[in-house]
Amino acid sequence: MSLALFRRVHHLSTTAWSRAAQLPRVAEKKFYAIKGDVLEQVLPAFCAVAGEDGVSLGTAVREQHGRDESVHSCRPPDVVVWPRSVEEVSALAKICHRHRLPIVPFGTGTGLEGGVGAVKGGVCFSLRKMDRVLDLHQEDFDVTVEPGVTRKALNSYLRDTGLWFPVDPGADASLCGMAATSASGTNAVRYGTMRENVLNLEVVLADGTVLHTAGEGRRPRKTSAGYNLTNLFVGSEGTLGVLTKATLRLYGIPELMVSTVCSFPSVQAAVDSTVQVLQAGIPIARIEFLDDVMMDACNRFSGLSYAVSPTLFLEFHGSEKSLEEQVTITEDITRGNGGSDFSWAQDAETRGQLWKARHDAWYAALALRPGCKAYATDVCVPISLLPHIIVETKKDLTENRLTGPIAGHVGDGNFHCLMVLDPDDPDEVQRVHQFTERLARRALSLNGTCTGEHGVGLGKRALLQEEVGPLAIDVMRRLKATLDPENLMNPGKIL
Ligand SMILES: Cc1cc2nc3c(=O)[nH]c(=O)nc-3n(C[C@H](O)[C@H](O)[C@H](O)COP(=O)(O)OP(=O)(O)OC[C@H]3O[C@@H](n4cnc5c(N)ncnc54)[C@H](O)[C@@H]3O)c2cc1C
Repeated sequence: MSLALFRRVHHLSTTAWSRAAQLPRVAEKKFYAIKGDVLEQVLPAFCAVAGEDGVSLGTAVREQHGRDESVHSCRPPDVVVWPRSVEEVSALAKICHRHRLPIVPFGTGTGLEGGVGAVKGGVCFSLRKMDRVLDLHQEDFDVTVEPGVTRKALNSYLRDTGLWFPVDPGADASLCGMAATSASGTNAVRYGTMRENVLNLEVVLADGTVLHTAGEGRRPRKTSAGYNLTNLFVGSEGTLGVLTKATLRLYGIPELMVSTVCSFPSVQAAVDSTVQVLQAGIPIARIEFLDDVMMDACNRFSGLSYAVSPTLFLEFHGSEKSLEEQVTITEDITRGNGGSDFSWAQDAETRGQLWKARHDAWYAALALRPGCKAYATDVCVPISLLPHIIVETKKDLTENRLTGPIAGHVGDGNFHCLMVLDPDDPDEVQRVHQFTERLARRALSLNGTCTGEHGVGLGKRALLQEEVGPLAIDVMRRLKATLDPENLMNPGKIL
């Protein structure tokens, strides 16, 4: 079909058309990874499935879908499609499969490891239009959502039900993006990560077939039926299939919540308190650590006046009676470790103000050096080893003249250095890169992981090999080859 006929038949919009008309020429300049003639063939098919407004070749659109919030450079896909249903995802995947085109799923683009970059070109499947909450079972504490529903949208939907979904990465990410990266956040110490909270997934595989990882429609709270396919796809970062539905656990909104902030004379004292609180069996809902540099940045950014020292932000959920007990024991433990300057908050507004410093940490770090970019490292170690690794890491930062305030989900042994760097300074970029590799290897030497929650993406593939060893990598490769023999699903990531 000629491009002229193609345009007439498919009523391409002027923008889409003008881009399509340029394809062969642009392809020669290696702007498009897909050859112009292939694109010419697949575009009508994409439009027939997703509608004309469900397909875009626009440069700005492709660039917007070729980057996340990381410092990895933008790798735009050749085309962006917006399917509206699992049937459309499947039909589009079949077209890609027939033409051997890479598929890169896109949630909200808040990832921190370059996961949405189309390193081999291909087709970005943006799941934004699939944003319905499908099945809520209040009495069973579960819900099924389409991939574009974000965590905040789900919690707004649940507002009047007395239920909530607690996994809370700092950004308002899509729930299937969160499943794809095995995300967690401040509530993980009590409610778990995405791994513990996904009951079933609907997945479109590379050849367009539709899989239900726990069986269609099933939503038991527990199962010992066969291999855990659900958890194979949690954390698969779009490399095994497109997640088109997730069935998630829900929790009752606690009767009461109380938060406090408390400062410590040393990192060791803050972490000792954390370990002792957990050992005492306190069902702490959140226990977050900020180092002195981070506290200083937060004070400046949010106009606060917290002590500039290692600090814990804590939150307790429960009934009045249980809170009384939790708070008394925790206060005893923290005072015993030199904790002071307690600020307490119970009503929602004051708690919101108190947590503001923690929630704004990313932006507070960025504000330390206006015009710079931030990169969040993400390691996780057995909790007792946290003081050791944090002290070593702070020394490393100082010796290498780097800005990297520390914030951590300390109850899980997980922490981030929010590296603030000038991306146009090659020397600094190199020093940050070397620092992050050293930090990850330090975590590995302490039997930890190179990523607690952000995923492997582009940047941590070599570290993953060091972490799990050649045999585990080989098993992963074979699993990938079984599910995606043509290596079409988000190629170049994880492995
Ligand atoms: C300020 C800030 C704070 C953050 N704090 C945290 C935190 O505390 N904890 C944490 O875990 N993360 C955190 N993140 C990182 C980010 O929010 C998470 O990684 C999130 O899970 C990404 O979801 P997304 O929808 O934006 O996915 P995207 O960025 O769109 O994609 C991420 C990866 O998942 C794949 N993917 C997306 N959707 C699908 C799908 N439907 N099917 C298959 N694969 C898919 C993509 O291909 C890509 O590989 C933070 C990010 C920012 C910017």
